[in-house]
Amino acid sequence: MFMVQRCNHCTNAPCVTICPVNALQKRKDGIVDLDRDACIGCRACMQACPYDAIYLNDDLGAAEKCHFCAHRVEKNLEPACVVVCPVNAIIPGDFEDPNSRVSQLTKEKQTKVRRPEQGTGPNVRYIGVSDAALHPGRPARPETYLWSDRPPHKREQWPVSLPVLNDALVVLDADRRVEWGWGVALYLVTKGIGAGAAMLSPFAGMLGLRGGSFSYGPEIVALLFTLITCGLLVEDLKKPWAFYRMLTRPNFKSWLVKGGIILTLFQMTLVATLALQYFGVTSAIMPLRVVNAIIGLGVAGYTAFLFAQCNGRDLWESKEWLLPHLLIQATMCGAITFLVFNPHSWPLRIIAIVTALLHVAFALREKNGEHHTENARQGAAFLSYIRCGPLNCWRDGLFVGIAIAILYILFVPLIAWIPLLGALFLYEYAFVRAGQLPPLS
Ligand code: SF4
Ligand code: SF4
Ligand code: SF4
Repeated sequence: MFMVQRCNHCTNAPCVTICPVNALQKRKDGIVDLDRDACIGCRACMQACPYDAIYLNDDLGAAEKCHFCAHRVEKNLEPACVVVCPVNAIIPGDFEDPNSRVSQLTKEKQTKVRRPEQGTGPNVRYIGVSDAALHPGRPARPETYLWSDRPPHKREQWPVSLPVLNDALVVLDADRRVEWGWGVALYLVTKGIGAGAAMLSPFAGMLGLRGGSFSYGPEIVALLFTLITCGLLVEDLKKPWAFYRMLTRPNFKSWLVKGGIILTLFQMTLVATLALQYFGVTSAIMPLRVVNAIIGLGVAGYTAFLFAQCNGRDLWESKEWLLPHLLIQATMCGAITFLVFNPHSWPLRIIAIVTALLHVAFALREKNGEHHTENARQGAAFLSYIRCGPLNCWRDGLFVGIAIAILYILFVPLIAWIPLLGALFLYEYAFVRAGQLPPLS
């Protein structure tokens, strides 16, 4: 079964919503077009598109996609693929015009779209397509493919727990890269430390912080790790020098932009707190710490909303679970970092241990709980297949790493941050990578 796959020019295009610099636009004529010159190469649209319809032009550091041959359509010409097809298998037209051929065909024949459950309103409809072609995760994946090699980056085997259709075989793989990797995993950890330090800062005295570590510690930790977080975000762009476009042409619907605003605000209030502390305006410190804690919740949690905009990565999408999980992770990161200031603090040890156990519980639900789509189920099955050298990232990060960290919290608390944050990084890497492994095309 050969299936022509291209951009669906979706009615509710998630790629347009997530693009932080409005490089993607839904035109009045329905075409979803991309301005390559405006693109900063964040690859968020590639995570948002459930159809694998966007790829990165490495030479330009910018995304590219089918634009329905807008330059031809504007001159009343048909798209090039329509003209070149020898058997008229591709029929362009306007579904809103009841007299168009595509509208007639839709009435006469049963048509199907790819992944309707995503609610994107795809506008490429198929006649007579096989179910195996509509579900790219189902066909069996032999050791070698008919029309391409098995791509080298897909080092993970297909999870044995997932059902496959043995009478349908994958014959070609477009060799899509896994775009978000260790940088995003590290960003989740550093952001958690920054946010957690601020979230715990109003309770710094009760948690056993004294002297300079009480006065300046929470803000210095929060500011330092938030700066590292911002550095990681910028470094991950294919055009890091163009990050300023998020300021000059922001898309306020994108959680990348909303997250950027929250991070900026956070840094400003942290600097203000440090400045007032320095100048001895101590009466303002506690109210400001409460403000920092509230913004810290936003810093920790906004990623749940960003990941929910990634319609192509269903494992990341359940924000009702991801949001509390991120807040728990941030609290754990804050507590383990504060433990460096006072390793004898039992309140900090208890918070670190309880949140670490809650983190394990949430991660287990993420893997074994109900999943809303087949793609999410596949992503969850991949979690325990992700490796970093000899380590199984999910299993070792979650069970071995957390168990060692708890022993360190109890007996060597000063350096317990090393195993705990290392374990969290391994887990985040598995989560970020596994979400991108289920095939979309
Ligand atoms: S989400 Fe994908 S298929 Fe839909 S308009 Fe965007 S690029 Fe095209
Ligand atoms: S890579 Fe980023 S900036 Fe470029 S089009 Fe996609 S979402 Fe927009
Ligand atoms: S030829 Fe034009 S319409 Fe056809 S897939 Fe390419 S860009 Fe899209």
